[in-house]
Amino acid sequence: MKVVTTRAEVREERAALGRLGFVPTMGYLHDGHLSLVREARARSEHVAASIFVNPTQFGPGEDLASYPRDPERDLALLEEAGVDLVWLPQPGDVYPSGFATSVEVGDVADVLEGASRPGHFRGVATVVAILLGVVRPDLLLVGQKDLQQSVVLRRLAADLSLVDEVVVCPTGREPDGLALSSRNAYLDEEDRRAATVLSRALRAGRAAYDAGERDAETLRRVIRDVVAAEPRAEIDYVSLADPETLVELQGPVDRAAASMAVRVGRPRLLDNTLLHAPDPGLG
Ligand code: AMP
Repeated sequence: MKVVTTRAEVREERAALGRLGFVPTMGYLHDGHLSLVREARARSEHVAASIFVNPTQFGPGEDLASYPRDPERDLALLEEAGVDLVWLPQPGDVYPSGFATSVEVGDVADVLEGASRPGHFRGVATVVAILLGVVRPDLLLVGQKDLQQSVVLRRLAADLSLVDEVVVCPTGREPDGLALSSRNAYLDEEDRRAATVLSRALRAGRAAYDAGERDAETLRRVIRDVVAAEPRAEIDYVSLADPETLVELQGPVDRAAASMAVRVGRPRLLDNTLLHAPDPGLG
């Protein structure tokens, strides 16, 4: 496994590789990240990953400075998972002096996370455009855990023709349903117990949908009521939206993405499920 820092080194190493799957990350890796690597290996000859805590996607007062980091452990996990090339840049390698470009993806980036975290998806889209431009992979692998991010990145990739294929991989979860996240490291013992409320709420929404409930407002309320019953949980949003446009649904629904952002103690946690599709992870 080659580990490089500069754009030029990435280019040189990439040139020696064949069909390439690429997994961008912010590090502090868990099995959710590694499931993306496994999927990349299954679909391509070679796999590249990046580890970069991208400052431009954090707002003022967010956790950029304290975001958990453990590059040595991350590299060992990536090597064990069979990654060929890791880009571990310094901020100046990604944003060289004079850097002035930013990418705005449009309406899908303005709702939900985009509304709660202004500028977040500009930062995400810009850094992923840079990473794709440097790494030039054949496919990009992202997690459904960050549903809106996957929608934004599919739009970005298609509109700017940056990569041929974007693969969205299922959400990796703890045995009790909590979606794996680097930010779970912020949970103390009691908050960790309370954090199962996100997956429990989604499961309640799925149960209602599977039982035939199709009214958007009712489904949204079923999910919201479960979260609201947990005193340690503070709801940012509970959404029932069109899975492609992310526009909030009203009235009878067919395809629907249920998603939420909920603060439990220190971290703000995300989770989602597609009600119309199987989600074995949620049981
Ligand atoms: P991050 O390091 O949080 O920026 O995540 C890097 C990539 O891993 C993104 O495509 C995420 O959507 C994906 N990811 C994060 N958590 C999970 C998870 N629990 N299951 C599957 N993919 C995930």
